[in-house]
Amino acid sequence: MSRGCLTAAEVSAFIERGRADAAASAHLDACEACRLNVDSLENEVLALQYSMSGLWFRERISCPTPDELAAAARGALTPEAADYVDFHVNTLGCRACGAAGAAVDADANPEIRRKSRQAARRVTDSMGRFLDEAGKGDAPPP
Ligand SMILES: [Zn+2]
Ligand SMILES: [Zn+2]
Repeated sequence: MSRGCLTAAEVSAFIERGRADAAASAHLDACEACRLNVDSLENEVLALQYSMSGLWFRERISCPTPDELAAAARGALTPEAADYVDFHVNTLGCRACGAAGAAVDADANPEIRRKSRQAARRVTDSMGRFLDEAGKGDAPPP
């Protein structure tokens, strides 16, 4: 029980591993300053993970070309290519392609446009739920 406050390195090691050695966790139980350190670093790590996943979300997606989008709207793609476009636009919810696709669909097929709007709404809803879950116990809802 004769342990000083955790160093920054110990705090981040604790967060990385999700546990501390007995002396450190006994100290954490007793020391509010260290718990606050852990909390704020944890929040930083979470924020970083969010921006990383946002980055991943933006960067990993290779957008279909406008020609492919137009062909998809006309139903002129191979099933594999059409699946990819559908996955990309509706499942991943790529806004750039969704907007381009909607513009094409407006001329081509209002039914497709309606469906892709519904799909976009589903993606938005589940993202919202995900963020609600992740934010629980954090900030109060607006
Ligand atoms: Zn301490
Ligand atoms: Zn895209």
